[in-house]
Amino acid sequence: MKSNILKTCIVFFILSTTSIMPSVIALNIDKNNLVYEYYTYQQMTDLLQDLQSQTPKIMKLESYGKTHEGRDIWFVKISDNVEIDEESEPGVLLLGAHHGDEKISFELLIFFVKYVMENYDKDDRVKNAVDNTQIFIIPMINPDGVEANQRKNCNPDSEHGVNTNRNFGYDWEYYEIAPDVFNYEWATSPTNWNYRGSSPNSESETQAIIRVAESFTINISLSYHSGAEVAFYPWYHTTQKTPHEALFIEIGEEMEQISGYSLWTGSKPIIPKLGGTLGTSENYLYGEHKILAYTVESSRQKSPTNPDTVYDICSKNVEVHLYLCEKAQTIDNNKVLVSKGFLKPFPRVLSLLHKILLQLF
Ligand SMILES: [Zn+2]
Repeated sequence: MKSNILKTCIVFFILSTTSIMPSVIALNIDKNNLVYEYYTYQQMTDLLQDLQSQTPKIMKLESYGKTHEGRDIWFVKISDNVEIDEESEPGVLLLGAHHGDEKISFELLIFFVKYVMENYDKDDRVKNAVDNTQIFIIPMINPDGVEANQRKNCNPDSEHGVNTNRNFGYDWEYYEIAPDVFNYEWATSPTNWNYRGSSPNSESETQAIIRVAESFTINISLSYHSGAEVAFYPWYHTTQKTPHEALFIEIGEEMEQISGYSLWTGSKPIIPKLGGTLGTSENYLYGEHKILAYTVESSRQKSPTNPDTVYDICSKNVEVHLYLCEKAQTIDNNKVLVSKGFLKPFPRVLSLLHKILLQLF
């Protein structure tokens, strides 16, 4: 597989430099460049539009909303019969750039889209993934933040924007119930890097993800970030285990074998130490839709500049995505999506107690 990926890069480099396919820029991996240059929003837009026009049978590109600064939030669907929603096929959702200064998180998804389009007819694993799953990708959730090279979006109502990965409304009420546990002060301070926004799901970036989750059947999702090399899974605001703990660990450890990103399980409770995180897309995707939703911190550096490092991260995550497409085909959808014994996390108990107390006093 690695040699195939390398081959693709070489082919694309040759194609782009000889102008055989001038409308498609080679992935910005040029071993002669000492400093890697990431795709800009406009370069990504041009590339996705070119790829879609060249491979319309397996790739669909749609805007799922506009940002505060008027940029499209691009949503890519990849599958055979791409115009049809084939609900019998398992779905894999890939998200990048919740945080605009974590550039490798979108670059590796652009690389993946390009890799799939170019290898559909050449690589059996790619063909299997496209033919037997539905792959959904928002490579750049927060393009305004990417262009501004900042963590949050560019909501003008807040001087420094909103953290789109704190804006999901799932279990927001627990900020009020347990403000110290969930860092209420940070979440409600517009200048804080984890500012949650004025109201639940207020941001178009958040709404784009909700629209995807409500429109399609999705089994597994990865939301990419950078700044560490780890993967987390729900819950993000409590160490309570979900009914899917065993499955989360099984898939997470298999991904770890490929990527080297260590899986943070309940035995390594990093989340409570941070005080608990509300408003993440992962809590929403799992809590509302029972999607096996992982957060993947894909690189110690937020935006590595060494071309070899970028290439390694992009290529190993191609392998992760192909693995996920294969794995998704083996999971019993009904078991995941209609899990018996699905329990809300412990804050629900707090909520109940809170309501009882309100009645009493
Ligand atoms: Zn992040």
